[in-house]
Amino acid sequence: MATGRPRRTSPGPVGDRFAVFDPATGEAFEEAPDQRPDELDAVVGRAQEAWRGWRTDPGARATALLAAADAVEAAGAEIAPLLTREQGKPLSESYAEIARTAARLRYFAELGPGPRPLVDGRPVRSEIRWRPLGPVAAIVPWNFPLQLASAKLAPALAAGNTVVLKPSPFTPLATRLLGSVVSTALPADVLTIITGHEPLGARLAAHPGIRHVTFTGSIPTGRAVAAGAAASLGRVTLELGGNDAAVLLEDVDVERIADRLFWAAFRNCGQVCMAVKRVYAPNRLYSEVVEALAQRAKATVVGSGLDPGTRLGPVNNIPQLARVERYTSRALADGARAAAGGHRLDRPGYFHAPTILADVPPDSPVVTEEQFGPVLPVLPYRSVDEAVEAANDTGFGLGGSVWGTDLDRAEAVADRLECGTAWINHHAELSLAQPFAGIKESGVGVAGGPWGLYGNLRPFVVHRPEER
Ligand code: NAD
Repeated sequence: MATGRPRRTSPGPVGDRFAVFDPATGEAFEEAPDQRPDELDAVVGRAQEAWRGWRTDPGARATALLAAADAVEAAGAEIAPLLTREQGKPLSESYAEIARTAARLRYFAELGPGPRPLVDGRPVRSEIRWRPLGPVAAIVPWNFPLQLASAKLAPALAAGNTVVLKPSPFTPLATRLLGSVVSTALPADVLTIITGHEPLGARLAAHPGIRHVTFTGSIPTGRAVAAGAAASLGRVTLELGGNDAAVLLEDVDVERIADRLFWAAFRNCGQVCMAVKRVYAPNRLYSEVVEALAQRAKATVVGSGLDPGTRLGPVNNIPQLARVERYTSRALADGARAAAGGHRLDRPGYFHAPTILADVPPDSPVVTEEQFGPVLPVLPYRSVDEAVEAANDTGFGLGGSVWGTDLDRAEAVADRLECGTAWINHHAELSLAQPFAGIKESGVGVAGGPWGLYGNLRPFVVHRPEER
């Protein structure tokens, strides 16, 4: 069994602060403010007050957000190690996350919606003037704390709303630092970061002064957030879990795609909503695919994200590690074979060996649920129809991918996947300009691109007769 287990299993309160753990050591290394729900009236009240000014001048907003992007980039060397310490990801990925955060601020700064005339042939001049909603609550998880924070605050602020953002208690530190850096470019109280434990998020989502709750996290929490926001009939955008399938076709060149497929599953230690979480390979190629992925899993350097050679860091937190271990041991007990890994690593911290599972029963939870960790089941199929049916046979609907040499054929198969985004020969590559929307239980509403901006605006229509 691994040594160095931490004394607490979650970042529990320490007076009015709570401990934050380094998942690479299992040791607490910093604290964050444990804010109480009774502080929310004052926080939301200040956000409402700040909204009066912030909503009025789109040009000033764009200038401020561009300055915020510059400030984030300038602070990269300070933010990145903190993100790696609390989240676990390799330092290079923390820098990449910061770069995407700055890029997103710039993208939305430059995406102002102008008034738009309505033309319908009547002698009426109608115009849509997009108006902001008011204070927005943003609630995010621990896997990409900064990227997901910016995915919410950039469009909300660009649209003229103010934002109260709550990170996960597993990763509060880099987000607090990001908030203070971004706020150097903003008027007071336009952006507020709050940190603490439940029911802080639940009360924020249900606060009557909040006009839009934009949430990223698990499906059960998403349901609770929607139920809470229903009290004030505020708008809700939910980006929830995924169980993306990768379907490999008969003509796939296994060696050519194996690296890309492996990292589509294992990047950020598999803790990606849109990671490949199930692989379907044709019977004829099954052993070759399992072996190619297993070779890569065995060769991957696992370690602290601060070590330059590390490709795969630890799992972020103990409940998540327990979930990964539970799904893996259940699959092995049900007859699966670990072609690589299959166990936690015997060292301090929350490390799990990158694991490739073969011969997994299709109803095993590692296939039917979201493992969100460094474990990948590979399943054989007889016909493409069977593979597509299995890929779609889930309540999740975030992404999916099809891999093959004949791109037209691969695209035809991808077109049959029931999800928000389908890729050919890669997975989870997203443009800032594209709509991002899960279907089924994976989400409500649309984020990303202009759709993300309009998700933070309401149409205000002015009708005026042409004649006097
Ligand atoms: P989670 O749902 O447990 O927590 C997400 C956030 O909600 C955290 O800040 C948490 O503190 C807060 N929270 C917890 N209970 C709450 C409540 N009752 N009301 C309001 N807020 C509450 O999720 P997690 O474990 O932090 O993150 C992993 C999940 O996030 C996975 O399911 C993953 O797929 C999903 N995710 C989805 C996307 C996407 O874009 N679709 C992106 C990243 C992660």
